[in-house]
Amino acid sequence: MAYARIIVDVPTMQTNHPYDYLIPDNLADQVAPGKRVVVSFGKGTRQVMGMVVGMRDQTDFDGEVKSVLRVLDDQPVISAELLALSKWLATDTFSFWISCLQTMLPNALKTESRRLNKQTDETEIVNKGRIQTREYVRATKTAADYAALTTETRKNAKNQIKLLKILTELVGKDAVALQTLSKQDKIPRATFTDAADKGWLAIEDHEYYRHPYAQLDDLPRTKPLHFTDEQQRAYDSVSQSVDQHLNDTYLLEGVTGSGKTEVYLQLIARTRQEGRDALMLVPEIGLTPQMVKRVKGRFGSEVAVLHSGLSDGERYDEWRRIARGEAHIVIGARSAAFAPLQNLGLIVMDEEHETSYKQDDTPRYHARDVLAWRAKYNHAPLLLGSATPSLESRARAEKGVYKRLLMPERTNNKPLPPVDIIDMREAEVDSYSGDISNALTTALQTTMARGEQAVLMLNRRGFSSFVMCRECGYVAKCPNCDISLTLHMDTHTLRCHYCGHEEAIPKICPSCKSRKIRYYGTGTEKVEQTLHQLFPDAGVLRMDVDTTRKKGAHGRILKAFGDGKADILLGTQMIAKGLDFPNVTLVGVINADTALGLPDFRASERTFQLLTQVSGRAGRADKPGRVLIQTFNPDNYAIQLAQRHDYERFFGLEMHMRHEGNYPPYYFTFKLTVSHEEEDKAAKAIFKLADQLTANLSDQAIILGPTRGAIARVKRRYYYQVVIKYKNEPNLQKTLADMLESTQMSSRSGYQIAFDREPLSFI
Ligand code: ADP
Ligand code: ZN
Ligand code: ZN
Repeated sequence: MAYARIIVDVPTMQTNHPYDYLIPDNLADQVAPGKRVVVSFGKGTRQVMGMVVGMRDQTDFDGEVKSVLRVLDDQPVISAELLALSKWLATDTFSFWISCLQTMLPNALKTESRRLNKQTDETEIVNKGRIQTREYVRATKTAADYAALTTETRKNAKNQIKLLKILTELVGKDAVALQTLSKQDKIPRATFTDAADKGWLAIEDHEYYRHPYAQLDDLPRTKPLHFTDEQQRAYDSVSQSVDQHLNDTYLLEGVTGSGKTEVYLQLIARTRQEGRDALMLVPEIGLTPQMVKRVKGRFGSEVAVLHSGLSDGERYDEWRRIARGEAHIVIGARSAAFAPLQNLGLIVMDEEHETSYKQDDTPRYHARDVLAWRAKYNHAPLLLGSATPSLESRARAEKGVYKRLLMPERTNNKPLPPVDIIDMREAEVDSYSGDISNALTTALQTTMARGEQAVLMLNRRGFSSFVMCRECGYVAKCPNCDISLTLHMDTHTLRCHYCGHEEAIPKICPSCKSRKIRYYGTGTEKVEQTLHQLFPDAGVLRMDVDTTRKKGAHGRILKAFGDGKADILLGTQMIAKGLDFPNVTLVGVINADTALGLPDFRASERTFQLLTQVSGRAGRADKPGRVLIQTFNPDNYAIQLAQRHDYERFFGLEMHMRHEGNYPPYYFTFKLTVSHEEEDKAAKAIFKLADQLTANLSDQAIILGPTRGAIARVKRRYYYQVVIKYKNEPNLQKTLADMLESTQMSSRSGYQIAFDREPLSFI
């Protein structure tokens, strides 16, 4: 007997143990690991989706073993490598195996079990509905047949005569798209279908790829640039590991504009020469059309692009091109870490310090860990690049775990731009210019007078961050979350940035009926308005979540700015990454303090990274640039060291602080969060879990809490958490794994429990 080991997808009954299912004879040559199947589950006739994770000859289950009912995939959708990865990921992140498998698949292949119970044939819906096909025409007869048919056909049946001529040419050749033929010779589709009925030709459905960047594939290829000495040294080190299939990890510390991307590109070329595949991850917001163009411009259609801006169909098509070995280079955001490349020879992670590499939903993985696993599996080097490496990575380089490569100079030999700090406690600010100091106003004026461009960052969207009554202190809050509502002028509403709740702006205080409702705090919308008042003739583009919701909006804004259609690009941190505009000579930070106020041990690191990144947008080409940073904390070390571009000193100081406070990278951390719609249930549950941790973990583990979440209520649920700090905790794995399985049942009573290894913050 043959059995398949299957992880079933039953949301209310998850487990990490595969079940054995009998493989019926008629499916014997179809069932294979990595394929999705339909099985029945539980007492009734309930059908669910499952993933085959292994095969065995016998079962140790002594009850009635059920059979596999259907196989959904012709080919495995999860390769052997990704199957092994998914198993490790489930263990490492304390997630259910099935959720790791689902995470690896494009949306188009994410089956939902309940849909399988419908009357329709789900195989059709899941697998075929999403693949686009085009009609193709194939000649089915011989040239002699067509000659005979031509003589038989009436002379005035012009379309048929034309079609027979085409068919004669198609004999023995590949099928051609019907649409193309029909257009070329102006033959209506009906002529083709009639001819098909008569047996003159066959109309076949051929798969067709939706190709989001097709136009880039036809551009002339760019040539590799002649390296600087620093680039050459970095390249030489990594290419040795590429050639020798060594699983080394490199940390490339290169200042903004030092030419890291060019090093990546030439290493990718090297990898391809060796016949192996390359994967390059960039942060979602760094995946600008500029970046895609640079990679596609060098390698053309060999490149597949994966990010969340694509439609499900486009993603699925790019995914299939990769899985089928038609695309050998992948550039993508976080989830592209699971790209189904078969033969990885190099993995690059640009801006390795970026927080968007950590997924904040289960499985809560960090893409860096996934890449490290794959690099090891494939005996390939992993190259981490950044101007401001995460403390974790830099500390590993210090210990010799990572090999450190340095590129401290910009390729244009220009120094990094001078940075001035504007102390907003004392700065002159004209009453009408709101949050823009006179110094920044003057700098903007001079820049525009020279015909140059400016980038302005404010890491807060909306118009005002909160609305308050001057009379009684009432603040408008979200009814679903423990958070104040943000004022948005574009929609004239108050909006919650956590749950999307929207309501009208009050004219009268709902609490005391006074009319003294005032707006406080500044967002990008308000700065945009101020800029229009200050510079009525200037072109201003705003880029934030609100202006980039529509597909392609992000690219359109950047293109307009690159084409010189605006003088100022204003935006949230979205504009800090990866942009390379030669005409930008001024960068202004409206408020450097947005992150510093957070009660988070990484606040300084984030601030330093963000200021360095955004400063790097200035003076990238021939014209010198400058940076102005407005702050109410001019003495803060993160701001001062960012001003001096002094990463080394920042690293030293920050490591000292982390050491004092027992924070990462000196300690590992883990956060457990419980949420429930009823506050006392959430609280009770977290205390129970904390007790279990105390009972099971050794006394070298530090347990913080339980505490209420910093935002205690989100989307009508209350959040409670406990944080574990540890160095080498022998009981951690087992304690948490047991907790995962035992807490599973409680999801039915409305509890949600989040396991978060190395959380981005404790709040
Ligand atoms: P980074 O990724 O380190 O910020 P980029 O790769 O974007 O830097 O390079 C900055 C600029 O320098 C780009 O315009 C790039 O085309 C250019 N560049 C890179 N390498 C060289 C080189 N060896 N010679 C001349 N220009 C280069
Ligand atoms: Zn009031
Ligand atoms: Zn809300």
